[in-house]
Amino acid sequence: MASPDVPANPEIIIGVLPIMAQAPAAQVSQQLNAVANWFSAVSQHRCHLSFTILPAILPQRPISYFAIAGGMGPPPQNSQSLVRAALDQLEPESLGKLAQVQSHLLAIATGPIKPHTWHLLGGGKWLGQKVWCNRYAIIQPDASLGTIAHELGHLLFNWPDLIWEKRLADECLMAWGALGTYGKQPSPPCGPLRVQMGWCDTVYLHPSDPVIKLTFSKVGLFRWHQIEWLIEYRSEPRPRLLLYRSHGKNPGTHPKILGRIFLEKEDFGKSVVGLVASHLRKTVREHSNCKFNARRAFQPL
Ligand SMILES: [Zn+2]
Repeated sequence: MASPDVPANPEIIIGVLPIMAQAPAAQVSQQLNAVANWFSAVSQHRCHLSFTILPAILPQRPISYFAIAGGMGPPPQNSQSLVRAALDQLEPESLGKLAQVQSHLLAIATGPIKPHTWHLLGGGKWLGQKVWCNRYAIIQPDASLGTIAHELGHLLFNWPDLIWEKRLADECLMAWGALGTYGKQPSPPCGPLRVQMGWCDTVYLHPSDPVIKLTFSKVGLFRWHQIEWLIEYRSEPRPRLLLYRSHGKNPGTHPKILGRIFLEKEDFGKSVVGLVASHLRKTVREHSNCKFNARRAFQPL
């Protein structure tokens, strides 16, 4: 079932501000292209990113001055002041370009700056054309695909950092999945985030529906014990089901993963709901001796 109430995502153009002595090396734009392709793939071609690289700017003070606590220290020695200083040095033409891209700003700074996404102080920077720039993401020129995708998740979609238990945290880009523990690529955004974005379709599961009904782009929903569950299928590097609580059309601002079921060959013909139910029963038996109550057992996790 498609999500007809979610509009298709239009192209999102991101202004890239190199805070460095010279224009960034060709590898940087190759990496940005790879990030755009990655978002296209994980969104089923519903998210289109492109990048406009602005002229390189070097503030008068060395970048290391702004790098206390990786750039996240108190002002003025932080990235807020660094990005502000760089924006203040931009030519009107570049400010105009940034205004046209709706101020989506990705700063790339050499020096000991840790990747993060933050807001500018003092209400932001006036770009003209009725546009303010008040947020930015900042990365280093050699940032990995996962790091850039994670920061863009914050910047463009307001996705939060997800604090998940360690053994499951590599399943989502916004938990620890940016590191790419599962395979070479970073983990995609988790099912609830993709549903929220309209990047995957949902299907209501009958108790008898088999695992093969689910694909990466089709997540399952079912009600059980007064809770709506969202089940996501992932194939790489090992077939598995990921289990979340669903909040209907609004999957929640901080989705939590509740479980993972690794699948063997024979499981593909089995009922998803049956597999989940036996997984939950087993988990509850292992973790508590109280009477089975899914709501009590899985809230809060
Ligand atoms: Zn983050």
